[in-house]
Amino acid sequence: MIQAEGDRMQKDNYKSGYVTLVGRPNVGKSTLMNHLIGQKIAITSNKPQTTRNRIQTVYTCDRGQIVFLDTPGIHKAKNKLGEYMDAAAESTFADVDVILWLVEPSNFIGKGEEYILSLLKKAKVPVILIMNKADTVKKMELAEYMETYSKVMDFAEIIPVSALRGTNLDSVTDAILKYLPYGPAFYDEDTVTDVSQREITSEIIREKALRCLNEEVPHGIAVTVEKMKWRADDTIVDIEANIICERDTHKGIIIGKGGAMLKKIGSQARRDIEEMLECQVNLQLWVKVRKDWRDNDSIMRTFGYNRKDFS
Ligand code: GDP
Ligand code: MG
Repeated sequence: MIQAEGDRMQKDNYKSGYVTLVGRPNVGKSTLMNHLIGQKIAITSNKPQTTRNRIQTVYTCDRGQIVFLDTPGIHKAKNKLGEYMDAAAESTFADVDVILWLVEPSNFIGKGEEYILSLLKKAKVPVILIMNKADTVKKMELAEYMETYSKVMDFAEIIPVSALRGTNLDSVTDAILKYLPYGPAFYDEDTVTDVSQREITSEIIREKALRCLNEEVPHGIAVTVEKMKWRADDTIVDIEANIICERDTHKGIIIGKGGAMLKKIGSQARRDIEEMLECQVNLQLWVKVRKDWRDNDSIMRTFGYNRKDFS
């Protein structure tokens, strides 16, 4: 799968591979990811249409690189496309080196868990069970719940953590790295992470703008994301973006009566960006005119477009 399968060469002790994190809504997946990846959270897909089912986040350290693939269906709360999503989830399982299953500490294995379990049992790679929210129960109980889970499937490891407090998370990265194959990093941490995240954000805004404008502004818009910054507690991201068009008349159409059109584009885009980043988004949009930007290759590159996108 993915680019570098053939390039995975033995190189010192470095490890690299793909991991997916599954679990019912509310078990703490986002909290765990935020703690594991922190500010380095990265979405590395270049194709906006694939972001829904293939969001990747990259964790890089001196021992290896872990690429997290998003599994559709399993951890999206309501899934109307049942079968398609199952197939997609199974194909994700086939594409990764390690699967992480996040559960809450309990003896009760409910329908949601049974469903995930049925998919996991078909997987051919190591499954690591992570019992999250360990801070909410007594140690004795925790041991009992881990014992209960150890009987339902043959897990590679069972690790109790508190994603919220950041407790025992080193054990998670250690365990993942243990099961990853040797190989060089797939992604250059610094460049790929930040740029791609902005790319997807700008694509979402552009898609919403084009849809709302209903071809009233033929082809002539691009979107630049000027700022993308997480607030200290990681729950809100402030985004500032420009919608670039070619003519003043277009600018008027994009802004709309009393700003109505821009507001509509903004609120639709914000919803999707929030879903993608799984956090609250404060989105500010501006409209700017840059005459003939489409004829200027260097401007186009700044906007992240290739010629072929316009054919
Ligand atoms: P997701 O739906 O799986 O992404 O779950 P979230 O990461 O959004 O977490 C759901 C809720 O559980 C949030 O209110 C978190 O603060 C809380 N939570 C997550 N991890 C822990 C934990 O380790 N301990 C406790 N007490 N709460 C947690
Ligand atoms: Mg979440």
